[in-house]
Amino acid sequence: MSILVTGGAGFIGSAVIRQLVRSGETVVNLDKLTYAATPEALEEAADSPAYSFVQGDVCDAALVAQVLEEHAPDAIMHLAAESHVDRSIDGPAAFLETNVTGTFTLLEAVRRGGRPIRFHHISTDEVFGSLGPEDAPFSETTPYTPNSPYSASKAASDHLVRAWGETYGLDVVTSNCSNNYGPWQFPEKLIPVMVIAAVEGRPLPIYGTGANIRDWLHVEDHARALRAVLARGARCESYCVGGDAERTNLAVVRAICAALDQQRPEGAPHDRLITFVTDRPGHDARYAIDAGRIRAELGWTPERDFESGLAGTLDWYLANRPWWEGIRARRYGGERLGLSA
Ligand code: NAD
Repeated sequence: MSILVTGGAGFIGSAVIRQLVRSGETVVNLDKLTYAATPEALEEAADSPAYSFVQGDVCDAALVAQVLEEHAPDAIMHLAAESHVDRSIDGPAAFLETNVTGTFTLLEAVRRGGRPIRFHHISTDEVFGSLGPEDAPFSETTPYTPNSPYSASKAASDHLVRAWGETYGLDVVTSNCSNNYGPWQFPEKLIPVMVIAAVEGRPLPIYGTGANIRDWLHVEDHARALRAVLARGARCESYCVGGDAERTNLAVVRAICAALDQQRPEGAPHDRLITFVTDRPGHDARYAIDAGRIRAELGWTPERDFESGLAGTLDWYLANRPWWEGIRARRYGGERLGLSA
């Protein structure tokens, strides 16, 4: 197959591309290379003649049409997005532009191109809102209740995808995944923020009381799920993807500290660095996923449990210090975001 991946220089997109190229697919990556891009994560794929890269914006209709014409993909995996909730609070416009207009632009290009192209829209569980402690996990039938500008923009794009499938007959499929972690995650998200602060001996800034719950999935398992949805997902349907690994943010940070105590005993105990800071406005209390459908219908299961995945991720950040030090020096120094509400 020939696959157009949008946002393929990001955290998840680069994992998807590494897997696709390894399994012999032809891939073109359309990415704007925003602050969040990690082209270094594609060095392995870049050596392959099956991989090509186009720098550009998914909102650029002329460019998107040209890419579809030149590369004639069989499928699109649409991951390009602004993805950080805190940044969406401070500057929602970029989220509406890329996440909503960008998705609309791609759908229209496929519709007007007139060739059959499978369109896989990669979305988030955050579109479903926030669960109480006793609520059943999110599933494909959970009503949408987004609470942040980020999740609202993703919800809007999910609705566009569905409508272009129902109205124009496009071959669309959507997946909604829980929180990912793993190598190459930009150091503004919880796990890399905490790992890096702990390694540097700085305070570990936990929002609110740390009681918020997320369902964690390793990025390589998410990439495998996405390939299953692309290959076998039913048209106009959606698939929830999660790791059955609900943890409070505080538990995640304590697990990072405990693992670092083993690896770097000179800094132990690292949990003395835990600091509670002002909560995120509109902070969703709990996300959890019922992944029963993708497991039963597409035969996908995660290969890593959270503890082994986290240990491997910690090792990776320790071994790749020059990468994150370069980002902290030149792109994002770690200042608090998302309090402008
Ligand atoms: P990321 O922020 O790491 O990467 C996003 C990529 O998109 C970057 O390479 C960036 O340069 C590119 N991009 C941004 N705007 C663009 C534009 N206008 N045109 C072209 N490229 C553009 O994001 P991620 O964590 O890899 O997430 C990828 C997708 O998965 C997103 O759609 C996100 O909503 C979804 N998702 C993420 C998670 C998670 O935990 N990270 C969970 C579920 C779903």
